[in-house]
Amino acid sequence: MMRFPKTFAEAQAQISSIQNRLSELRTHVDVWRYPVTSQHAQEWLYAPATHTPRTALLLTAGVHGIEGYVGLGVLDVFVREFLPRLDERTVGVAIVPMVNPWGMEHMQRTNAQHVDLNRNFLTDPAAFDPEFNPDYQRLRPFLAPDRPVSPTDMSLFWARVLRVLLGTGLKSLRNATMLGQYSDPKGLLYGGDKVQPETRAFMEGLDTLLSNYEHLVHIDIHTGYGPRHEMLIIFPHEDRRSLETLRTRYAYPRVVKTSGGEFYQTQGSLGSYVYRRAQEQHPGKEPCVTSLEFGTFGNSTPASLRSLRALVLHNQLQHHGVQYPVQYPHVRERILREFRELFMPSEPAWYEHALERARQGLQGLLTGEQLIAIPEHRSGHHA
Ligand SMILES: [Zn+2]
Repeated sequence: MMRFPKTFAEAQAQISSIQNRLSELRTHVDVWRYPVTSQHAQEWLYAPATHTPRTALLLTAGVHGIEGYVGLGVLDVFVREFLPRLDERTVGVAIVPMVNPWGMEHMQRTNAQHVDLNRNFLTDPAAFDPEFNPDYQRLRPFLAPDRPVSPTDMSLFWARVLRVLLGTGLKSLRNATMLGQYSDPKGLLYGGDKVQPETRAFMEGLDTLLSNYEHLVHIDIHTGYGPRHEMLIIFPHEDRRSLETLRTRYAYPRVVKTSGGEFYQTQGSLGSYVYRRAQEQHPGKEPCVTSLEFGTFGNSTPASLRSLRALVLHNQLQHHGVQYPVQYPHVRERILREFRELFMPSEPAWYEHALERARQGLQGLLTGEQLIAIPEHRSGHHA
């Protein structure tokens, strides 16, 4: 049984199988198709509530394209083990397996315009502000050098990062990087200069969903941050409930908020947008908006710096290629391998932990939202 696809062809096959499973279990399934490039569409698989629409359960993967491969594994667990336990009379289910299909096909985090979609969910055009995140500008020569990767860049990274850390400190380096920026189209975590087609498609789908249900539960799947072999459930800072309340309600220990100090700050994130939109459409109702983050390298200082190196070199490679590609063919290969390792690890045991945490998290969230009843047994089959 294929659980976590490794290639785009496997990913497409798995999406078909998810769609088939949805069709087997639900009375109606519609596919909403939004073209986002000349060759790619963002598809929403939608199974409406059949009687009294109450809660919309939205699951999304591949906002950061390459992270969608793990995401599809989690969606597979959802349709096999949790979907059969939902009440189709009241719960509508929407699954977006690839929010960023170009990024998935090309094993990139960004879309084809090099935009990080998770920094692109901004409704005010003035928010695409090149002056935002001045620390990024200051660190730009280190974070996004304007030249091809040289064969020594991988090893020299440590000396360079040390020099930067002495002036800046790890926390502000991390913030300057992860916050996103709107000034440098060839830089790291570029949020774009306008709303992207994938973002626009998502906003449309979301509004259609929100117009039919008064309550929203959203689960968005990511990889690459947090402790290795663990999964964080991240709530947007707009959610006013305390971490303690969230831990208890969803029976899950590793809960964080986007600006809680533990997790990095963002601007234009999908989660914040979804939360605010749900509240605008249904004032007074508290949506449950989450992302699941599966940790890969870990969160020690060396692991954070290794993640940063993977992002910096990969970005530099995308925009400027490598120096002496004929003499040093392995440079490109090593950078691509390291980047892939950050978002879809090669260690088979990693996936065992991911499955276990995904089950625990889905169980906690769906039980806490009273969408499934009995906690001790899982229906459906598993190996
Ligand atoms: Zn991500």
